[in-house]
Amino acid sequence: MGERTLAIIKPDAVERRVTGRIIRRIEDAGFTIRAMRRVQLSKREAEGFYAVHRERPFFASLTSFMSSGPAIVMVLEAPDAIRQWRTLMGATDPAKADSGTLRKEFAQSIERNATHGSDAPETAAYEIGYFFAGVDLA
Ligand code: ATP
Ligand code: MG
Repeated sequence: MGERTLAIIKPDAVERRVTGRIIRRIEDAGFTIRAMRRVQLSKREAEGFYAVHRERPFFASLTSFMSSGPAIVMVLEAPDAIRQWRTLMGATDPAKADSGTLRKEFAQSIERNATHGSDAPETAAYEIGYFFAGVDLA
């Protein structure tokens, strides 16, 4: 069945109507979409999701951005999904992202960078539970 990771198409990409192009890239790369929904995060929910970053200088701006409009949250499954999804996304800063990555193509800045991906198995479990608690992912 493979590994699972939490992916987000962030509000900048939803606003720019590139959701379909990003989902196409996800499927072409071989991921299975196990669950998907559209969410409008409150500021408080964005703060909870990014709690590990609460001491960072960009925390207030990041959580305002993430609650500024709808986002698409997904559970992706593939062998080595956590690492593979981060590879497909590319570097956090689009100026440093490799060509062919989603952030190179779709990100506008280091903050408005189109997508999110979990960074470790424990984070993936927490983040999947954050949006899909009680949802049957079988
Ligand atoms: P994500 O967790 O969203 O998948 P990431 O793991 O590549 O991205 P993190 O270091 O976890 O990067 O930062 C979380 C998010 O905070 C980034 O995706 C970006 O939107 C924002 N961010 C990170 N660094 C900066 C920065 N220096 N200035 C502004 N925003 C930033
Ligand atoms: Mg991260």
